[in-house]
Amino acid sequence: MPPDPTTPPGRRPGPLRRSAFWALLLVLLLAPNVWRWRLAPQDSQAAFGLLTGLLCVLAVSWLWRGSRHGLALLLSPLVLAAAVDLVHLLDYGAHLGPGGLAVILDTHPSEAREYLTLASRSALPVAGLYLTGMALLLWLADSGRLHRPRRLRRAAPLLLAALLVDYAAKGASRYSFPLSLARAGSEYIGQTHRLAALQRRAAHVHFDARKAAPADNEVYVLVLGESLRRDHMSLYGYPRPTTPRLAAQDHLLAFRDVTAGATQTRNALKMILSPATPRDLGAFYTRGNLVQLAREAGFDVVWLSNQGQYGKHDTEVTKIATDADARHFTNTDWDTTSLDGRLLPLFRTALRERRRPLLVVVHLLGSHAAYQRRFPPERARFSRRPRPTPVDYYDDSVRYTDWVLDRLLAAWRAERPHGCLVFTADHAEYLADDGPGYGHGFPQPHRQELEVPLLVTCSTAWRTRHPQLWQTMRRNAGRPVSNGDLFYGMATLMGIDFPGQRPARDPFSPRYQPPRRLVAG
Ligand SMILES: [Zn+2]
Repeated sequence: MPPDPTTPPGRRPGPLRRSAFWALLLVLLLAPNVWRWRLAPQDSQAAFGLLTGLLCVLAVSWLWRGSRHGLALLLSPLVLAAAVDLVHLLDYGAHLGPGGLAVILDTHPSEAREYLTLASRSALPVAGLYLTGMALLLWLADSGRLHRPRRLRRAAPLLLAALLVDYAAKGASRYSFPLSLARAGSEYIGQTHRLAALQRRAAHVHFDARKAAPADNEVYVLVLGESLRRDHMSLYGYPRPTTPRLAAQDHLLAFRDVTAGATQTRNALKMILSPATPRDLGAFYTRGNLVQLAREAGFDVVWLSNQGQYGKHDTEVTKIATDADARHFTNTDWDTTSLDGRLLPLFRTALRERRRPLLVVVHLLGSHAAYQRRFPPERARFSRRPRPTPVDYYDDSVRYTDWVLDRLLAAWRAERPHGCLVFTADHAEYLADDGPGYGHGFPQPHRQELEVPLLVTCSTAWRTRHPQLWQTMRRNAGRPVSNGDLFYGMATLMGIDFPGQRPARDPFSPRYQPPRRLVAG
């Protein structure tokens, strides 16, 4: 090969340095896809991810035209993105999605440190490794001209084209780094616009709400469980000890006949948190929600969620969260592993630092599939046997929810509050009871998807001040209730008066009229 006139002799890197450069680049860019594949070796999409990372390196070799500055410009965003994606995989077991992007992009800089220290154990070590890697890459390319293998150069455009075709055809590459990131970005932008439209639609809601005679230190908590069926809680008679801690609580009312308003999170929560009904889901957009009602009545409202912030099913719930005075999302996506226990420190901080009266809404990931990701392995009890069934994992997730609720109750009681803590689940779960299948939201809903728990406990101070109301609640605990009517019940507990209150639908009111049983399917 004739000497290159633009490169001073002696400065061209030797073959060893050149190979080291490409090898290191490959390691840095391939690491997220390798980790994903390691988590799910049998998943064909994850396997294809390995190829996608390789194609990505080839694309770099093709696009890069020589200078070291050009190289830095081309590689920096790619290497940074790989580092961020790897952190997300290590923390949550999934590639970065639109919800993860939202956490990164929407987090206020002053909260960024909190996020890094609280939410991520791998952010700092990965950042360190990748910065070192990037410096090493630039040093290896120090000559200013790094020759690419000729065959690589020829193959790259072809492979790049194959990748783009696969992406456009919604193939496996959409779920592998770096194209997973392009998809997340476009979804994030779409969901942000959708959220803004939802907020515009509901901007002018007024309840004319008033708070009757506030007491000292008023703190109410609404905990929203996920995919939890009542008949798998020992509190309701399940033979396995799935809820021993709840069973040991004093003054805990367990409503015995509670039906969910819907079998999917989005619609179920619309009903729990607003005047919406199965026949009028639109009321969620036009008539306001519990967070708006509470704030109008003078409450500070904090929303803590271990569910996704953006995504096909999450944006409408996020709309309610954005109405709160403060909100924290500890999770980014439903496919991730993010334990509900991560909410506990945020809950304690909210109780300590907020002004009174206060409403805290805690949105758990609970028992949503995949059940085996919903509890820490060291808390496994029923799934700790040779061939655990999905029900074993499910029951362990219920037992973990029992622990989380116990910790929430303890933190709330430690404040010596005047108030109540209410727990329900958005909907329940079908566990292959009468035929195959696990999950919820089946086109023909099963009874098992609808039978949810409803637990209420009120502090001594509250019960002393409202003995009649407490008696009524004890009476109503045996009557049929739709948890979609909790919007009215919460207002009653919190002492909020407003013209739109409907005592006949309020399960905590003496004038409550149980609905005709809602049995679907
Ligand atoms: Zn749900």
